[in-house]
Amino acid sequence: MDPIDVSVFQKEQADRCREAGEKFFMDLPDRWYANGPMYLCENGHVSGNYLKSEEKGALCLACFKPVGLVDPKETPLESHFDELFGRTG
Ligand SMILES: [Zn+2]
Repeated sequence: MDPIDVSVFQKEQADRCREAGEKFFMDLPDRWYANGPMYLCENGHVSGNYLKSEEKGALCLACFKPVGLVDPKETPLESHFDELFGRTG
């Protein structure tokens, strides 16, 4: 399967929040930084934790790809990305 473009995914979610009138901090909704933030990598791993790297920034704990902050309410878990993107195994 193709990797998920995290920045595109993130922007689509953020745009919906902006249209809904949510409060923003920088380019992302306030709410995303609040209780239980969620991070997504291009392989569809979703986690509340990430590996902080001096050189590469925030990385996925499972595959060490860069992660992006995403909407904790709307982001499907890894198993759902399998369905969405037609992954098997
Ligand atoms: Zn990953």
